[in-house]
Amino acid sequence: MRPDTRLQHLGEEDKPYGAVAPPIFQNSLFVYPDFDSFVKRVDNAERYDYSRISNPTVTIAQKKIADLERAEACRVFGSGMSAISSAILSQVSAGAHVVCVDTCYGPTRQFFEQYLPRFGVQTTFVSGLDADEALDAIRPETTLMYLESPGSIIFRLQDFGKITAACREKGVVTVTDNSYSAGVFQQPITLGVDLVVHSATKYLAGHSDLVAGVVAGSKPLIDKISKGEAELITAAIHPFPAWLLIRGLRTLKLRMKHAQEVGNAMALWLAQQPWVEKVNHVGAPDFEFAALRDRQMSGSASLLSFHPKDDSEEWIRSFMNALEVFQIGVSWGGFESLCVPVQMQPIGWSEPRRVLRLYLGLEDLEDLQEDVSRAAAVAG
Ligand code: PLP
Repeated sequence: MRPDTRLQHLGEEDKPYGAVAPPIFQNSLFVYPDFDSFVKRVDNAERYDYSRISNPTVTIAQKKIADLERAEACRVFGSGMSAISSAILSQVSAGAHVVCVDTCYGPTRQFFEQYLPRFGVQTTFVSGLDADEALDAIRPETTLMYLESPGSIIFRLQDFGKITAACREKGVVTVTDNSYSAGVFQQPITLGVDLVVHSATKYLAGHSDLVAGVVAGSKPLIDKISKGEAELITAAIHPFPAWLLIRGLRTLKLRMKHAQEVGNAMALWLAQQPWVEKVNHVGAPDFEFAALRDRQMSGSASLLSFHPKDDSEEWIRSFMNALEVFQIGVSWGGFESLCVPVQMQPIGWSEPRRVLRLYLGLEDLEDLQEDVSRAAAVAG
């Protein structure tokens, strides 16, 4: 079976009562018929015991996402940050050093910059503009290289092939946040990355009605996380959001196809507007990383940003207040279009300008363009 067919059916071979949608196993506990089966449960990897550790509804989501990412195994968590912090913690201990791109998701950066130093783990941030810069930051005590390609504000790309080959030689584990591509426009594991993390809250779930996260990778790396961070520290996903996630995955490919179409059309249109200085969009013909994109990605999504010519606070306030279809909010990947202002300098990025990020949801593209035009006219 081909990937799109597998995404629909994988993990659901067993259909209780012939139900076409899987049951929600909304239970914390699994019980045993007798003393012997209880005592021997530790030897039975297939047996469910307790839903913090594993649950059949969650297993279906995990099988589908592992396959989507071409990974041997996957663990779904109660949030993207649970997944990300678990993946990171599984690869560091006191005295370790990490190299991380400075355009990673803000709270991920906070985790490296503010939280991990308490446990003796130091991080060097690199711009992510150049593979050699990232590789030159590796020290003898470096255990982890954390990438986010594309990032989610100005969409820098990192060269997976070059970085992962060098990291593997030095025994450095590579992790990338793949939320932007949703396992559809790239599978970083096929390009040498060891662990892929996601905010499944975004495109994977797709409806802005749940919070979830994913780590995918080799079986040994995922088993280590499952036995360690997932069971001991971070939040398990509950069966109902896992079921909603499965439902979101059914339409993932269709939604991403739409995302690519409207993202590209909006970026081209924005670039022609007199009030726009620059558009940041992965799918743009003149995208800064076009050559790398064409090598390692098969498409682009509907998350983009632009620098307005007038980037004063007054212009941005008037523009955002005049939007009627776009709503103001931080997340993305759902049905609703969103706009968020990002001031880069205070968080130390190398790009000193203000940008506005747009997420295009499932509304009509012409309504979205008219909304943005009207808001720009109001802003002046
Ligand atoms: N990674 C990226 C790129 C994100 O945008 C987000 C959330 O906005 C996260 C990770 C964190 O995921 P969650 O909010 O599901 O914990």
